[in-house]
Amino acid sequence: MVDMLSRAQRSYVMSRVKGRGNEATELRLIAIFRQFGIWGWRRRAKVFGNPDFIFPEAHLAVFVDGCFWHSCPIHGEVPASNRGFWLRKLARNRERDRLVMRNLRSYGWHVIRIWQHELRNRPRVARRILRCLESSGSSRTILKRSVDAGRKLQSWTTSTSTPVSSKSLRA
Ligand SMILES: [Zn+2]
Repeated sequence: MVDMLSRAQRSYVMSRVKGRGNEATELRLIAIFRQFGIWGWRRRAKVFGNPDFIFPEAHLAVFVDGCFWHSCPIHGEVPASNRGFWLRKLARNRERDRLVMRNLRSYGWHVIRIWQHELRNRPRVARRILRCLESSGSSRTILKRSVDAGRKLQSWTTSTSTPVSSKSLRA
């Protein structure tokens, strides 16, 4: 029975392993980019810390953080078996996240980290990225495009009552 449980737990954990470079998560963010007309991004560029996406002109790095691997305040948890191992591992991940963020910022990058669960609130994610693109004084092209996208976003958010769970509101 103990074995069964730990195996179940293991597969549960493994299903969340690919916090970084997670195909499904990246595709969800790409869908948001498309929906709101956000252009100028590159996927998995070779930049320190391996951001999921960068906007080279805006010097913006975007990370989507898996709730388990990056200890999301809502869904983060430490597996009961091998607790010591997981505590250390998760602490290392958080430390690495901080290091990456500090480093990128010291080189003049903007950094946006998005929790995996926040991807459910598409307009909110789009808004964060657009705001950063517009304030970072990117090239005219990006600015024009994101202004257009901003308009689209506005009409989308005003015309739709978004079904948002209380959990994503807390984020
Ligand atoms: Zn979460």
